[in-house]
Amino acid sequence: KLYNMVQDLKGNIRVYCRIRPSFRAESKNVVDFIGEDGSLFILDPTKTLKDGRKLFQFNQVFGPIAGQDDVYKDTQPLIRSVMDGYNVCIFAYGQTGSGKTYTMSGPSGGGTSKDMGINYLALNDLFQMSNERKDIISYDIYVQMVEIYNEQEIRSCNDDGLSLPDAILHSVKSPTDVMTLMKLGEVNRAVSSTAMNNRSSRSHSVLTVHVNGKDTSGSSIRSCLHLVDLAGSERVDKSEVTGERLKEAQFINKSLSCLGDVITALAQKNSHIPYRNSKLTLLLQDSLGGHAKTLMFAHVSPESDSFGETMSTLKFAQRVS
Ligand code: ADP
Ligand code: MG
Repeated sequence: KLYNMVQDLKGNIRVYCRIRPSFRAESKNVVDFIGEDGSLFILDPTKTLKDGRKLFQFNQVFGPIAGQDDVYKDTQPLIRSVMDGYNVCIFAYGQTGSGKTYTMSGPSGGGTSKDMGINYLALNDLFQMSNERKDIISYDIYVQMVEIYNEQEIRSCNDDGLSLPDAILHSVKSPTDVMTLMKLGEVNRAVSSTAMNNRSSRSHSVLTVHVNGKDTSGSSIRSCLHLVDLAGSERVDKSEVTGERLKEAQFINKSLSCLGDVITALAQKNSHIPYRNSKLTLLLQDSLGGHAKTLMFAHVSPESDSFGETMSTLKFAQRVS
């Protein structure tokens, strides 16, 4: 109850920032200070502490030592509200290599169950709730995976003809079912990515969980949870890329800025919300705005050579919060 009230006051949009550990000990770290209140000080590596300190404010900031369970703890209430009929969108935003896939799926190449990301932990939670409530409400849970590349919804398909019908709903009964499906999705994505030069960082991947519940009196609720691993937000140098690569970059640029526009318009309670300007916002239209809840994770790399991208990610995230 209290949580819902707080959510309503915030207009149902929250922004969390996550900073991954540094991979290079010799690199200067741009993170100067993380406050428990969601404040974050970034230091321009070319300036002094006095001149180069910038303050950002989010709902929450997770530093490099925050684990998957810490992040999930602050995501769980949103996930649980899906079972009560709320639509929820969770986005992972940031430059390639900043930890988007780590937050959503977990470490690449698998890992222990301790490192599982939001996708798995969320599904696990939904199954658990469904089980807890089974005497009162009977739930059906379906998942669907869609990839958006160059403003087109595509289905992944590998050479064996093993295709993951993205648009098709898969009924899932347990977290194991989901793991199997996600593995298949990853295989398909990996196969197509070698063919297309690591496309995964240049497409948006959307895992949608549909929840249909029916209580003993016959009344029903329907809701969905969208878990979105966005394309890398890095700017490409127009003088260095041409052709297909430039086209991709322009599509990514356009769709990410449209997403920013939509969330900003919602936060400002504008009467016109520009959903129609991109495939992603059009696809998620029913789950953005209204009573739906939105959470954006802004991912940043702490190394000094990422300072420019880090600033642009934090500015984007600050704009939508
Ligand atoms: P992105 O999806 O944004 O391109 P990844 O999630 O693939 O980035 O992260 C890049 C690398 O950093 C991966 O090897 C990943 O496992 C690792 N990594 C990212 N975030 C963390 C974290 N919070 N803790 C430990 N390793 C991380
Ligand atoms: Mg990734």
